Amino acid sequence: MDAGWARLAARHGERLRCRRGCADCCVDGITVFSVEAERIRREFPEVVEEEDPAPPGRCAFLAPDGSCRVYPARPYVCRTQGLPLRWIEEDLDLQLVEMRDVCPLNEDGPPLEELPAEDCWEIGPVEERLRELEDRFTGGRPRRIGLRELFARRG
Ligand code: SF4
Repeated sequence: MDAGWARLAARHGERLRCRRGCADCCVDGITVFSVEAERIRREFPEVVEEEDPAPPGRCAFLAPDGSCRVYPARPYVCRTQGLPLRWIEEDLDLQLVEMRDVCPLNEDGPPLEELPAEDCWEIGPVEERLRELEDRFTGGRPRRIGLRELFARRG
């Protein structure tokens, strides 16, 4: 995941406005697989056991300065933010169509529709691998957990 992100970040360096403190995508209500939650618990026990979650309306792990308190262990969904994304959907006629999107802050630059497919983050393959990990971790009983639920003190 990190290697793929770094490759795309190098391709899109000028359009990416993502930086510490830019937290528009750190919204409340994000859920993650239990295997992702476990990584946060293991790597940041002091955060989940001793600190307070951010007030409702923002991600519970957002610090007052707009940084992420669990950044090295942040879940998959946080790692795709900011990149040009592409995925395949079925339209109303059951035809497969390609969809693309990017954060509005990162719109400047070559039009999304003109980017080669390999210059976009493909939604799907990593999700499948993550789901396999979750199945192994839970014995085939996948579970989603709200990030706010990880805090001992829920605010
Ligand atoms: S876990 Fe970190 S990067 Fe992800 S939404 Fe929360 S504060 Fe933002």
